Parts: sequence; structure tokens; C-alpha cells
Amino acid sequence: MNKLESYACGKWQAGEGGEVMLNALTGEPVAQVSSRGVNFAAMLAHARKVGGPALRKLTFHERAMKLKALASYLSEHKDRYYAISAKTGASKVDSMIDIDGGFGTLFSYASKGRRELPNARFIVDGSPEVMGKTGSFVGQHVMTPLQGAVLHINAFNFPVWGMLEKLSQNLLAGVPAIVKPASQTAYLTEAVFRDMIASGIFPEGALQLICGSVGDAFEHLTGQDLVTFTGSASTGQKLKSHPVIIRNSVRFTMEADSLNCSILGPDAVPGTPEFDLYVKEVVREMTTKCGQKCTAIRRAFVPRTQLDAVAEALKARLAKVVVGDPSVDGVTMGALASLAQRDEVRKAVATLRTVAELVAGDPDTVAVTGGDAAKGAFLGPILLRCQDPHGAAVVHEVEAFGPVSTLMPYDDVDDVIALAAKGEGSLVGSLFTYDNAFARELVLGAASHHGRLLIVNRDCAKESTGHGSPMPVLVHGGPGRAGGGEEMGGVRGVMHYLQRTALQGSPATLAAITGQWLPGSPRQEGVHPFRKNLDELQLGDTVKAGPRKVTLEEIEHFAAFTGDTFYAHMDEVAAAANPFFGGRVAHGYYILSMSAGLFVQPDPGPVLANYGLDNLRFVTPAKPGDELSVTLTCKGKNPRITEHYGEVRWDTVVTNQDGKVVATYDVLTMVEKAPAAA
Ligand code: NAP
Repeated sequence: MNKLESYACGKWQAGEGGEVMLNALTGEPVAQVSSRGVNFAAMLAHARKVGGPALRKLTFHERAMKLKALASYLSEHKDRYYAISAKTGASKVDSMIDIDGGFGTLFSYASKGRRELPNARFIVDGSPEVMGKTGSFVGQHVMTPLQGAVLHINAFNFPVWGMLEKLSQNLLAGVPAIVKPASQTAYLTEAVFRDMIASGIFPEGALQLICGSVGDAFEHLTGQDLVTFTGSASTGQKLKSHPVIIRNSVRFTMEADSLNCSILGPDAVPGTPEFDLYVKEVVREMTTKCGQKCTAIRRAFVPRTQLDAVAEALKARLAKVVVGDPSVDGVTMGALASLAQRDEVRKAVATLRTVAELVAGDPDTVAVTGGDAAKGAFLGPILLRCQDPHGAAVVHEVEAFGPVSTLMPYDDVDDVIALAAKGEGSLVGSLFTYDNAFARELVLGAASHHGRLLIVNRDCAKESTGHGSPMPVLVHGGPGRAGGGEEMGGVRGVMHYLQRTALQGSPATLAAITGQWLPGSPRQEGVHPFRKNLDELQLGDTVKAGPRKVTLEEIEHFAAFTGDTFYAHMDEVAAAANPFFGGRVAHGYYILSMSAGLFVQPDPGPVLANYGLDNLRFVTPAKPGDELSVTLTCKGKNPRITEHYGEVRWDTVVTNQDGKVVATYDVLTMVEKAPAAA
């Protein structure tokens, strides 16, 4: 039997004694788990003193590259993880969701990190705020990594994804982690974690593991540390109210159970694609991972008139589910993670049956194909039906964390919104309808109670990622009962590990600190900045050009060759009647083009391309006779680590002969690095 070890302070360490975890299919011992003897205070100190500083030396892009390398490295060992995953009762599809889903999340963050975060060690958040009359005192928000560690406490149902979906964000942010998997399935997490350490991709101290209980770790948490918890609401609430969490304002993210619902729209009658899609999805959610998913459909709301039809359709589909050892041909659903878990589900079903009748399945017996029916944690899918969901509080409160769902009727949109809200906060809800007006009304009434809402119809069903799949680019988490936490959602998830600080000072000081030129900080003119490569270019490097006179001939010429003959440029009488112009004005795009003609240095050089404009505003109309000048200033540089170039952002201001601002925008270019640096 495998004695699991914790990875603490750079060493693998077995705990004393420990609980034995059993194979979910056969009941045979798989692993012994204990963290007794592990020094949790030392682990936290190691993360803060060794892991944190090493991670913070890297930029977001460097950390993102490491995530990608880690995902590729782990992918090579996938088959071994699948073999271990089978012992948790998982089918091949279940394992894919957990294992490949975890790697996919790493890849997604590796890509988002490089596309949406700067190649820097902190984030400049938003635009500067001018605080004084002359502009000599400004404010700017920045976001820097917390200098503590995050303790990730995970649930048993996703031993791989549960770990990686969280690590992807703290590692990208530059914060070290201590992972504590649920004991029941920690043997799979430990196997993957061993490879993560063996890969040497992340620096020592960035990753540690506790197999077993967290001991006195909570006693040693500081205000720079974080805890993320995924598991039952009862454990979560206990941990969230730990005195140290409260005293030190430790950031605590909780992802708890929730009574997620799926709603059949009134238009989705039998014979419509949405009816069939609904039935398929409810069954899929009941049986994938044996229903051991925090996002699974626990409450199925259907129009009262469709209750019988849906019950029959679900029953027919559920009858095709074959329970047993997923390695045996034809088996479509494996076992629950443990016998204890099966007992919990049976208990919950018994409570639900006080208000709901059994439609399909038998909580006490199930035909099993392969595996050891007497020792494995097998349970067939169980469909219940509750006629009076308003009068039956338990159907909205009790989570049977297994292949269990309860069918309930609703009368109209307000009724189903009220029923959905009885869950008191869910991770996800779904709606199957081809009626967009119904969908809008439902979303406006129910979104506040959900972290994610999926609307499925015949147009999107093929590409839909499904009710139960949290996506790395979308937020995962929900209000109230679901824990009130938020994870992932692309780079939003990274922000949880950063401290936002409002800086105040002079523009020059803040520019020096942030590496971003701010209005009011010094500009320097000299060699045309388009002649400088990325390494030579300095913040504040400026070119001023102009003036150039706007003429009616040029406006008409521009209109003729672009085809933009909008009346404000071409018809004096109509333009005079316009409340903004009072006569013919130059095209906005004429102003942009003319300004580019003024500031450009045309010869081949380090500037490779213009890839867009940001924050464009036309402030004052340009009229025939006006004389326009432009000031272009290097505002920010973002060298790419994998390319021979980087992005340069240029602050651009077009003014007229009176010094009035005509247009402001940021020009975005790609600029080559110095030959040696490239
Ligand atoms: P659990 O019993 O609450 O355990 C969750 C985690 O907390 C495990 O790692 C467990 O470790 C640990 N834990 C338990 N007591 C602790 C304590 N006193 N101090 C520190 N850690 C403690 O939940 P579970 O049964 O494993 O998971 C099933 C539940 O998780 C379901 O209700 C499900 O809905 C929910 N869930 C939610 C999400 C989500 O994203 N919202 C995802 C998956 C699951 P041990 O295993 O060592 O006891």
C-alpha cells in the first residue's frame, strides 16, 4: 500500500500512522494518509521566505511560460494518472474532465497571462487620476503580489483539476501555494504533484503539499496569506470563522456546495430540440463523475404541464445507464469515491424522500457490471419528483452529492425565478429554451443568485460546454450558499492574489515607479523615437510635429477617395444645423491620418507595425483653416519574452492653433528589440 507523503520545505515527508483510503471499485486499500509530524509553521515560512521571492523575481510572462511548460510536462505522464484515477471510481470521461481539464486550465492561463497581462512584475491598474489644478499631483493604482502563501484546501471529487485550476492563478500572480487535497483521493493528487516537483519548472518553495490534515497551519496565517476552500458548506463556514482568519483579515475564498438548477423553458415541449437537449443534459449531469460535481443539476424545474413527459423521458434515458467498473465494456457510470460517500448520499436521499417520490433508481440496490458489488461504492442514478417545491424546503437545502436529481413543476417565469432563488445562491443554473424573451426575463430575475448561467438552444447546443463545466476564461463561484467566492474568469482570478495600492505623488515620481509615462511627467525630444529600438527607447521620448492646415479641398479629397461623404463634411447647410459642428468639419479619420503623416518617420527601422489605437476621443471639431499639431510620447513598453519585439504605447495629442485638444489617443506599435537582445 502506498504511504502518501507531504512535500514540506523542500523534502518529502511521510506522516505518522494514518487513515487508509480504499479503492472505490474493489474496496482494496490504496493509500495511507497522514500529515502527523509535519511542521506547518515551517512550511508557511518556507513559502514566504523561499518560494515567494523566487516567484516575484519573474514577470507575468515568465510565470505564464512556466505554466505552459508544466502543462506540457504533465501531459506526457497522463496515462499513469488515468490508471490511478480509475481507483477513485472514475470512468474514462470522468478522468478526462479531471486530468485533461486541469491541464487545459494551465494552458489557458499560460496563454491569457501572456496576452492580457504585462511582461512585468506588477500591474498598473487603470488610468492616472489628476488630483490638483496644475497636474503636478496625480494618483495611480498598482497591483502587486501578496508576500505570503496561499493554502488551497480541495474537495475529493477533482483531485487534479481542483489543484491545478487554483494553482494556475496564484502561480501566475507570483504567490506560492501549499496544496491540501481531500484525503479520500489524495493519492492521485500526490502522484501528479510528485511530477510537478520532479519537473523543476517552478522554483523551490513555490509549491508544497500536505497529505493529511492541515494541523495547526491556520494558527500561523498572516494578513499576507490566503486560504481557498472547496468543499462542503459546513466545513467551509467553520474554517472561514477561524479566529486567525478574522483577526488577520486573511483573504478567504470559499467554493461550497450548491443546489444548482436547470430549467426547461415553456416553449420547449416534447418534439422540440430544446426538450431533447434538456433531458440529455439532466442525465449527463446526474451520471458524470457519478453526480459528484459541485455544479451538477440537483433541481430540475419544468413547466407543470410537462412534468409527466419529462419524467418519462428521463426515466427512459436513465434506464440505459450501466453501473460498474468503467474498464468493462458497456459500463457508463463508475462508483462513488468511497463507501462513506455512498452512505452520505443514501442519507440525503432518505431526507429528500420525505417530500419527494422516487421516479427512477433504487438507493439500496443496483445491478453492477464488473467491480466488487459488495465492496465497491456503487449507486445507480436516482430521480425524484416533488409536486410542491414551495412547500418542501429540503429539496432546496439538501445536497445529495451523487447521481441524484429532483424534478419539480413551475407555473410561470416569476414562479421559477422564486424557486431558483430558494437555493440561496448557486454556482450555476441552466435554461433550455428557444424563446429569447423568456431567457431575458429569467436572467434578469435569476442572475443575482448565480455565478454562471447557461442558456442552451438548438443554435449553440453543439458547441455548448455544458451545464457542469467551469471554464478557465469564465468565473467559477457563486453567491450565498455556494460560498460567495470567485475563481478563474481569466485574469480576474489572478487579481485575488494581488494587493491594489493607490499611489499618490508627482507625475515624474509615479512614472519612475510604474514604468508608465503619465501626463505631466518629463518629455525629451531629440532623435526621432521611431529610429530607436525597444531597448534604446525611453519613457517620455517625444516627437512634436506640425502645424498643418486643414483645407476644404483636403476634406473633399478625403471624402471622395474614402467614400465617406457624410453630410457634416460635405453639406454646409446641413452641417451648420448640426448641434455640434455649426458648419463643415474634417473627418475624424482625416485627423488621425493627418496626424500620422505628421509624426511618422517613414524609413525602414525598428518600428515594425501599428496594431491599433486605444482610448480614441475626438474632443474639438477641426474646421477648414484650423492648424493642427501633434505630440507623440512613448508611454509604455512591453517586451515579449518569446519574440524579437515588444509593444510600445504612444500617448498622442492633436491640438489646434489655439492649443485646444482636438483628439487624444494611444497609438499601439510593435518595435524591434536591440539586435543583441533580440
Ligand atoms: P469537505 O468534507 O468539506 O472537505 C473539503 C476539504 O476540507 C477536504 O480537503 C478536507 O480534508 C478538508 N477539511 C475538512 N475538515 C477540515 C478542517 N477542520 N480543517 C481543515 N480542512 C478540513 O468536503 P468533501 O466531502 O471533500 O467535498 C464534497 C463537497 O465539496 C460537496 O458538498 C461539493 O458540493 C463541494 N464542492 C464544491 C466545489 C466548488 O467549486 N464549489 C467543487 C467541488 C466540490 P480531508 O479530506 O482530509 O478531511
